[in-house]
Amino acid sequence: RDQTLQLIRYPAKSQHVSLQAWDSADELLIDYIIESVEPERLQRMVVFNDDFGALGCWFAHCNPVWVSDSWIAHRSLHENLAANAHAVSLSGEKLVQQPVTAITSVAALTDTPSLAIIKIPRTLSLLEHQLIALMQVATPETIVIAAAKAKSITRNVLQLFEKYVGPTSTSLARKKSRLVFALPTDAKCTSPPPSPYPSVWQHTLPDGTGLRLSNHANVFSSQSIDIGARIMLEHMHVEASDHVVDLGCGNGILGLHALSQTNGVKVCFVDESFMALASAKQNVEDNFPLQLANCQFIASNCLEELINSQDTSPVTKVICNPPFHQQNAITDHIAWQMFQDARDILARGGNLLVVGNRHLDYHGKLKRIYGGVKLIASNQKFVILSAVKR
Ligand code: SAM
Repeated sequence: RDQTLQLIRYPAKSQHVSLQAWDSADELLIDYIIESVEPERLQRMVVFNDDFGALGCWFAHCNPVWVSDSWIAHRSLHENLAANAHAVSLSGEKLVQQPVTAITSVAALTDTPSLAIIKIPRTLSLLEHQLIALMQVATPETIVIAAAKAKSITRNVLQLFEKYVGPTSTSLARKKSRLVFALPTDAKCTSPPPSPYPSVWQHTLPDGTGLRLSNHANVFSSQSIDIGARIMLEHMHVEASDHVVDLGCGNGILGLHALSQTNGVKVCFVDESFMALASAKQNVEDNFPLQLANCQFIASNCLEELINSQDTSPVTKVICNPPFHQQNAITDHIAWQMFQDARDILARGGNLLVVGNRHLDYHGKLKRIYGGVKLIASNQKFVILSAVKR
């Protein structure tokens, strides 16, 4: 089947033109499936971790179930489906339903797939969780094919396929990517183990408050508190009158600290990972149930969903431990966007508090965007910076 697709990485405006929306692992998967998988198999397909919707668009005619933890990936899929006219039927009428059933990685799979396609994610725990979820609905007839850059197909990755699915082999590399084939065994299909996620552990905040922290499989630093976040916890202070945004909230540790400091504070937890948001919400429910009504949980690329919504009260503080990669690409475009969005959403006199590795030069970026920046604390590795909206 020949197709030409126009694909973007959402948000197209802030991506470097050299970054394309698909990779050689997508190409390898598509070529293999077209050449070697019987067409009937494609009718009950599930696709995991498609970065920007390339696989979802390519196989849209098969109505796949499409699973991703990333709001940006969901948004890219949506835009790419529309741009490639998949939302339009042959007669030209708009279809009421998208051809692809897009679900988050927190949702359960319900149907038995005849073909499962997995782009191997960067976080092994997410892969582990997804293989367990897949095996709850797979049968020995399900074909499981995964793909990634050859260097990401480590022994640990292959061991997960062996452990949860069955005998596993790999293809030769092409354009630095490889396929992984795993054959579901009867035994592993009939009794898949329970997922070890969310993982739960205790953490004590600097003021002595003990927290129970729940972390879904794809949450940043899901085994312990990140070192940058630890330093931030010692230096952030909020008032009851504050409206705080925890931008890139992960399990919500920074926003939870705001809730532990005072009762009336409003906290908006924002992340592009659905598992991060689900964890943050669980953590508020478990640790500060009486303050749940003062909290919001918003899936967004940086703050664009907040900026676009009308009903937020003025934001007085944004606290942020920014990410420095998107999938496998190291990038500072997300930090830039976060700093700019924070300035747009802050009330005059409100401030953005950022923690980051010294070498990332957040200082220079903040100075350019806010016209001034103050060093709040530092150690050999990290700095905490504050920038005020004038
Ligand atoms: N705040 C947590 C902490 O300090 O442990 C997590 C910080 S982690 C360095 C960065 C977080 O930003 C991750 O949870 C990641 O999912 C989220 N993130 C990455 N890209 C994002 C984007 N474009 N918009 C919103 N959140 C994003």
